[in-house]
Amino acid sequence: MMSDCIFCKIVKGELPCVKVYETEKVLAFLDLNPVNQGHALVIPKEHFENLSSTTDEFLSELIVVSKKIGAAVLAATGSVAFNLTVNNGKEAGQVVAHTHFHIIPRFNGDGLRLWSGKAYAAGEMEAMGEKIKQYVEKN
Ligand code: AMP
Ligand code: ZN
Repeated sequence: MMSDCIFCKIVKGELPCVKVYETEKVLAFLDLNPVNQGHALVIPKEHFENLSSTTDEFLSELIVVSKKIGAAVLAATGSVAFNLTVNNGKEAGQVVAHTHFHIIPRFNGDGLRLWSGKAYAAGEMEAMGEKIKQYVEKN
């Protein structure tokens, strides 16, 4: 637990939340500033700064519970699609430094824009693939 972390405070009951589900390891509650109503967060009850430093044990539970909460959010909102998003690090838009999975119910024309792609120059894609492959094989 980190004493100044707002999500740790929610886990400890020191800050309020609208809880929708919990297990021994994870907690799901509503985001207080939702993209769309029903936008939920699923967090580990232990403090990990981001996805990269979260143990596989907690990550497994986070993804399984996210699937379950996704279905519940769709049923509750009448949406038929959701984004499951993890902002991993400040440059990726992570503001709260305690791992969290966003579940965002989506509606046609709701205004949330996802990324647009950029083209690779000749040879760049293969070179990048090779670099990533070598790292994965060594680690
Ligand atoms: P991120 O940018 O991925 O770090 O997202 C942090 C999310 O946490 C934002 O969507 C906030 O609206 C949400 N948030 C921050 N504080 C609280 C809180 N006390 N209760 C519920 N959601 C929160
Ligand atoms: Zn924390």
